[in-house]
Amino acid sequence: ALPVDPQESAGPAGSTWPTEIIQLGPGESAREVVCKKIRELSDSHHRDPFMVADLGVLAGRHQTFCQALPRVLPFYAMKCNSSPWVLRVLAALGTGFDCASQVELEQVLGLGVAPSRIIYANPCKSISSLQYAACHGVQLLTFDSEEELAKVAQHHPGARLVLRLWTEDSSSIFPLSTKFGARLDMCEHLLKVARDLGLAVVGASFHVGSSCQNALVFEKAIADCRRIFEMGRGVGHEMNLLDIGGGFPGAEGLEPVFEEMAGVIRAALARDFPEGTGVEVIAEPGRFYAASVCTAAVNIVGKKAVLEAGGRRKLLYYLNDGHYGIFRACIREPVPRTPIVVKELGSKPPLFPCILYGPTCDAFDKLSKQEVQLPELDVGDWLIFPSMGAYTWVMSSTFNGFLPASICYAMGPEFRSLLETAP
Ligand code: PLP
Repeated sequence: ALPVDPQESAGPAGSTWPTEIIQLGPGESAREVVCKKIRELSDSHHRDPFMVADLGVLAGRHQTFCQALPRVLPFYAMKCNSSPWVLRVLAALGTGFDCASQVELEQVLGLGVAPSRIIYANPCKSISSLQYAACHGVQLLTFDSEEELAKVAQHHPGARLVLRLWTEDSSSIFPLSTKFGARLDMCEHLLKVARDLGLAVVGASFHVGSSCQNALVFEKAIADCRRIFEMGRGVGHEMNLLDIGGGFPGAEGLEPVFEEMAGVIRAALARDFPEGTGVEVIAEPGRFYAASVCTAAVNIVGKKAVLEAGGRRKLLYYLNDGHYGIFRACIREPVPRTPIVVKELGSKPPLFPCILYGPTCDAFDKLSKQEVQLPELDVGDWLIFPSMGAYTWVMSSTFNGFLPASICYAMGPEFRSLLETAP
């Protein structure tokens, strides 16, 4: 292990972050670290859930993003995984940051990130957090209502505002537009209100919903933003920033979906915001960067076999992490996550319909509403879940007294220099 920072900081739900990073050998993957750790833990009765984060994977995701969308500067949406190591690596790689709250602003500013590399992209901000942003030089803020403009005029009049547009995001797995975004037909009015309050609107943003399933939503939203730019310039704003938000796919194996999306975005930008017209384009990817960084390992702490009507045998596995831990968002995913089983089982073991429950006393505490097909396993066996880096431990709680999964960090030697330049 490579000690890189002697300072411990607060981790998920009151835990502390590890202070060292495991150095991966040449060609070694985080999955192998997980398996090694499982072997170590299996000699004892302490089989607590844990995650291994591969920071090299994070650097690779950044490279993939920049290659596919060379005109777009990523402002990482830290809400999806705000661990200090993730932020440090991204700060060293030169990304910007999308913050949703004062605590997130404090965290990135505390790493020494320049305020100009931050967008405070929550369209509804508290007065105290607006004052904090103003005091600390964070100028880029999103808004989508007159009420927000009134607060900004009073508490952050020097802001550079970005108007968040509503998008048709019903086909996204996690839609956001019921809560945020101004309809196109309201935008001119909002731009005039901002001008009359003496506020500067510098651009437009949107979010197509997290895990967007339809790349064409980007095309429509970019075309609508062009209309907003025309309206803004028409009423006297200097419009020069387009923010295409997040929504890019996260899980491993979804590269074709991302490539298709990137192709649609490149074409829409070339049509509506051609290069050389002085418009800077940014995005707020979260899941795309973080999902494949973490692999989780959980243990089976209880089991029941039930015979259903018709004689169907169903297995209930009780895991030591669940809905109130790192799997909170999984219940909303359309396809249940099927784990990798860590056990020698013949070549084709029979599979049974299984429900994966979490450890709390709440019957809702399960990983998905649907059954998954798994072999017959026992108490003490391990399951591995890949692609667990986004919206996982950040959403975990200590409900029923179960502590969040611990996290350890790993990195290949080729990325070592990143840690030396990291803040
Ligand atoms: N930006 C904003 C304003 C968001 O609300 C979110 C997610 O909720 C993101 C970016 C990140 O989205 P994703 O993880 O889908 O890339």
